[in-house]
Amino acid sequence: MQSLTDIRNLLEVRGLKPLKQFGQNFLHDQNQIRRLVEAAGIEPGDRVLEIGPGTGALTEALLEAGAEVIACEIDTGLADLVADRFGDQVQLVRGDCLGAGRRLSPDVEKVLGDEPWSLVANLPYQAASPVMVDLLMHQPRCRGQFVTIQKEVADRLLASPGEKARGPLGILASTFGTIERIGVIPPSCFWPQPKVVSAMVALRPLELEQEIDRQAYARFVTMLFSSRRKQLGRILGRDRRLPEGIEPSWRPEVLTNEQLIALFRLD
Ligand code: SAM
Repeated sequence: MQSLTDIRNLLEVRGLKPLKQFGQNFLHDQNQIRRLVEAAGIEPGDRVLEIGPGTGALTEALLEAGAEVIACEIDTGLADLVADRFGDQVQLVRGDCLGAGRRLSPDVEKVLGDEPWSLVANLPYQAASPVMVDLLMHQPRCRGQFVTIQKEVADRLLASPGEKARGPLGILASTFGTIERIGVIPPSCFWPQPKVVSAMVALRPLELEQEIDRQAYARFVTMLFSSRRKQLGRILGRDRRLPEGIEPSWRPEVLTNEQLIALFRLD
């Protein structure tokens, strides 16, 4: 287990400093790391993708739980550190976890191959939303996502119809998955301390009773919410037929997932 002093030393001996541009806030609270690994329910031999291993505090805990770890690190200094510390215990992909169109990078996909895997990560804040949506929409072999993210993003994931935080992220996540808040993490658990509170969430894929064109649905929801203050009648045109029970005067944020799908299917 890495203490805060260990993390500082690991960086210092390599002349590294936490980089804001890569969202480097290292999680040093052992209880929180343990909680994340436990929530993921890792069994020996399970394959885990860790995005941003950093100094390897979570990586170590995943290996101790018996996981086969595939890690992707963008920072060359930290990637070297991970390679030196873990050698071939970890399959390391160097570079950005996101490729063209903010989709999971083909280099990472290649290493993940055809077997099931889970994401367990303290996600860099810039990559959190695109990674989570892409895995849910396009990676059927991903069995679940167990991640630390900004609390504000967790609130958006969990927002109910009518709430201000309701938007495409939460709608897509709750249509194609189930979301559980594991807990809230105060800034003091990280170094350097972020300005905002974090949260730990589990996002598990859900099989739909009736499959829909996920990409087209995502485009439809995004289009509706790009005019979230407007009424449906103005966004879709007054002549547009609406499913029973939906009024043209309503705003997109009040619609339930079922109503949104019904509206999409009438499109
Ligand atoms: N896992 C470590 C921990 O729990 O303390 C570090 C987490 S830190 C919040 C985010 C990590 O993601 C950093 O190591 C950072 O360099 C890396 N990172 C940032 N953007 C990335 C990207 N687009 N692709 C891969 N790694 C990225």
